Amino acid sequence: ASPEEERMKEAHILAADYFQQLLLNTEEGEEGLRYLENRGFTRDMIETYGIGWSMPNWDSLTTLLQHKGFDLDEMEQGGLIIKREDGSGYFDRFRSRIMFPIRDDIGRIIAFSGRVINTEGEAAKYMNSPESPIFQKSKVLYNLDQARPVVRKERKLIIFEGFMDVLASKNANIHHGVATMGTSLTPQHIQKLKRITSQIIVCYDGDHAGWEAAKRAAEMLHAENLTVEVAVLPAGLDPDEYIRKNGAESFRDNIIAVPQSFISFMMMYAKRNKNFQYPNDVQQYADEALSYLTSGISPIERELYIKRLSEETQVSTETLQGQLRLKEAQQ
Ligand code: ATP
Ligand code: MN
Ligand code: MN
Ligand code: MN
Repeated sequence: ASPEEERMKEAHILAADYFQQLLLNTEEGEEGLRYLENRGFTRDMIETYGIGWSMPNWDSLTTLLQHKGFDLDEMEQGGLIIKREDGSGYFDRFRSRIMFPIRDDIGRIIAFSGRVINTEGEAAKYMNSPESPIFQKSKVLYNLDQARPVVRKERKLIIFEGFMDVLASKNANIHHGVATMGTSLTPQHIQKLKRITSQIIVCYDGDHAGWEAAKRAAEMLHAENLTVEVAVLPAGLDPDEYIRKNGAESFRDNIIAVPQSFISFMMMYAKRNKNFQYPNDVQQYADEALSYLTSGISPIERELYIKRLSEETQVSTETLQGQLRLKEAQQ
């Protein structure tokens, strides 16, 4: 990396130490500390994950960086501070937020995500560092540095929607989880994952946005010839909420250990909003389900899914087989 990038990373280490100091040892940080404790974070975890707090002031980090001799223009490029519009100097990007450091593949801090305590206000719940020479969202996976050795052992990797879910699972003794940083999964993320495993479990939130995103992620991973499974959460819960409600053991045994296969998940997804009283819905569903059975599947699996499809739709397996052959001929 260039000397400039090195200095940006140095500044991130300094900032993270400063934020943590504020969270743990000052009156200003008490609100944040209480919030984290209510969410089940122990002091030990806060220290391990490097979590901190940013001051409400406009210039507390800016002043510190300047005092330590960092070039403020460079710090602005690095995303920590923002230039005033009238050109009269800089101000802190993150204020009154719980600060989560984001690390690169080798564990160096390259960005932050800041969460507001009160989501009622108009401030966005999470604010991330902007794109910078050291932080490209489309390439970064939260916790990949820590997860890598565990993934090699477990052979599988779990993708969560939010880094809070990664942290909640770590508490539940699941250490092979990663999360994207507020973007959907990108081809660059997938190339990174491919280098360490061929088996991915997608575990997104149990809400509309989560199901949509899980479908998109699963399709992308499948298209890259990875073995994809989807761990589906009950409606209304994300992994963190599930663990808090039902405990770590239930999360491991009833969610992570029993994911849906790619095809099962895609069939389940295709089935929602369908009413099999209507021939048109049956037709649409069968058509989509069969499209997953044309290639890259063993004859045994194919037969099992066709049986399932037949039971669901009341269309005979012979007719479904016929449709499938037609589809294959069209390809
Ligand atoms: P929490 O439990 O603290 O509410 P979460 O992980 O459940 O957090 P979600 O709302 O499910 O948060 O969003 C998942 C991810 O999407 C977050 O980790 C964050 O990266 C991104 N995100 C969510 N809301 C925002 C926002 N308002 N601005 C920027 N990014 C966001
Ligand atoms: Mn969500
Ligand atoms: Mn969530
Ligand atoms: Mn959550």
